[in-house]
Amino acid sequence: MPTTLVAEESQITNLNLMFGASGVECNELVTTLSSEATTFDIIQSIIKTKPTEIDSPFSVLDLRVVIDLMNKWTTNLPTVKPFYAVKCNPNISLLSALASLGSNFDCASLAEIKSVLSLGVSPERIIFANPCKMESHIKYAASVGVNVTTYDSVGEVEKIKRWHPNCELILRIKPEEETGAQFRLGLKYGAFLNEVPKLLKAANMAGLKVTGVAFHIGSMGANAQAYSGAILLAKTVFETASQLGMPKMKILDIGGGFSSGSKLDEASLIINDAIKSYFENEENLVVIGEPGTYFAETTFTLATKVIGKRVRGELKEYWIDDGIYGTLCMTLYDYFIVTCSTLKFGSKHENVTCKDTKTYPSTVFGPTCDSTDTVLKEYPLPELEMNDWLVFSNMGAYTTACATNFNGFSSSAKNIYIAYLS
Ligand SMILES: *Cc1c(COP(=O)(O)O)cnc(C)c1O
Repeated sequence: MPTTLVAEESQITNLNLMFGASGVECNELVTTLSSEATTFDIIQSIIKTKPTEIDSPFSVLDLRVVIDLMNKWTTNLPTVKPFYAVKCNPNISLLSALASLGSNFDCASLAEIKSVLSLGVSPERIIFANPCKMESHIKYAASVGVNVTTYDSVGEVEKIKRWHPNCELILRIKPEEETGAQFRLGLKYGAFLNEVPKLLKAANMAGLKVTGVAFHIGSMGANAQAYSGAILLAKTVFETASQLGMPKMKILDIGGGFSSGSKLDEASLIINDAIKSYFENEENLVVIGEPGTYFAETTFTLATKVIGKRVRGELKEYWIDDGIYGTLCMTLYDYFIVTCSTLKFGSKHENVTCKDTKTYPSTVFGPTCDSTDTVLKEYPLPELEMNDWLVFSNMGAYTTACATNFNGFSSSAKNIYIAYLS
């Protein structure tokens, strides 16, 4: 990892690339490019520098993107403290960059907490945001001083009382609306409004402090309007706690569901408005968010190599060395829009990106022997040859984090180049 992460673009003179298995310090300098170089340029340069020895598949983590995203978050949501949701992409270099940019962390398990603490992040910057935790993980949290967690059931109160009686609780509620999210976390988590009094009383009886309310409107494609309804709902829970004579709540946790695109602007307007309208009189309110997709999605780009080819008339079929059991698992969902470019290195057209050449409806298979492992169907691609490359953008959210070693193939998780400005 770079020891100094320069957040001011103006101070930057050139762009260095560091290579190493994810998070392992390694000083091999691959190339120097101008600071305007795109991630695609970087990939091209990596392949060009080491055409024969390069391990494939690999991903590039572009820390410049992380810096931009943090700046944009701070501008749009100045009162919302980010707690990066580690499950989205636990790459240690990404965690380290986020830590040095001032992010806090949402961890859901012992291993995630351990990984964040290993970076020297203090336990106060971690929320254990899993409403149903394993007892051994609760004990671990207690032993390292992670003292804030979420809950949505009476059973959880009992576990926490037993293993971590000094832990503060945040009540996770279910947002009311159908939010349009691809991944509806409300199907599994969150208390209904009519369960709130019972859950608050259970914590009170157990001598545990409930300091706030959390929700998650769902991941990927959630309607930003849902934040407003959920923030209003959270406000009613604050009021219920007061009516029950419980200590004043102070934390409003608005969860994840943020996209890295222009949709953040729309979401921010709605969120800032709702906080102002519904929590105007809460003096010591602390608002936190748990962005996962927002920080991970656009920061990783995947490069895969063509390892096989079959031509059936106009239809071209290719095999690549990563697939739906690996980094490309999200392409199974229609929601995910694949952005794929080609780099022709294997063929005689050395170093030519083929943007304007004739394309054919192409099928792209992953490397495993399962026919479900099909990444693209009827996707327009120029004719490729063995050892050419397919490059996929926006490959950071729920990609390597969900990848398996099925059939003995591995994802790009352990083969990550880090691009940063020094
Ligand atoms: C998965 C998860 C997140 C991150 O969600 P994104 O939509 O990827 O931002 C945040 N909070 C909790 C509790 C989660 O489970």
